[in-house]
Amino acid sequence: MAKILIVEDELSINELIRRNLNLTGHRCTQAFDGLEAVDLLEKEKFDLIVLDIMLPGLNGYQVLERASGTPTIFLTAKSELSDKLKGLSLGADDYLTKPFQMLELTARVEAVLRRTKKAESEFTLGAMRCDFESRQVFLDERAVVCTPKEYELLEVLIRNRNIALSREKLLDMVWGYDFDGGTRTVDVHIQRLRHKLHLEDAIKTVYKLGYRLEVSE
Ligand code: CA
Repeated sequence: MAKILIVEDELSINELIRRNLNLTGHRCTQAFDGLEAVDLLEKEKFDLIVLDIMLPGLNGYQVLERASGTPTIFLTAKSELSDKLKGLSLGADDYLTKPFQMLELTARVEAVLRRTKKAESEFTLGAMRCDFESRQVFLDERAVVCTPKEYELLEVLIRNRNIALSREKLLDMVWGYDFDGGTRTVDVHIQRLRHKLHLEDAIKTVYKLGYRLEVSE
């Protein structure tokens, strides 16, 4: 999990970015103009900034100058090609041209975080440790054999921890939209994960909805 500052004056885009980064397990703070962003940067430390260039108050470049080396991904409009170069020469780590796909943004975010070593490479909960790079799960440092779907389900729960996920959503995220089996499949896999990894208490059943991995952070 990384702490990400989203600076974007368009409310709907800001909100869409926040929702998607939350889903990939990050904690986001939103700013809607340059002054607000600078104010937040003075008070808090962030792992990454997603920074629009055209902003009220101060523009993105002026914000970047005050960001004291925080990794930054610039958002630029298609017409502002020279802006990209300016952004990169000022020290932005990457840029995205609007309009962009959310999957592209989340991929860039992970890439920059990996480069700056803030990406989560493992997750520990009690005796359980999940290594995202080797896709292995350990219990008291002994490898536990999981099927690919069990592992993927676990990773989705971890990356969306403390968020209630419906069975349908889990089915889409792990098995894909074209999967024919019903949501019962999710229940069966959850039972196996709880049992194998001693997560009976941590994986909560959310009444009439689905499941949530509960972690105190
Ligand atoms: Ca803007």
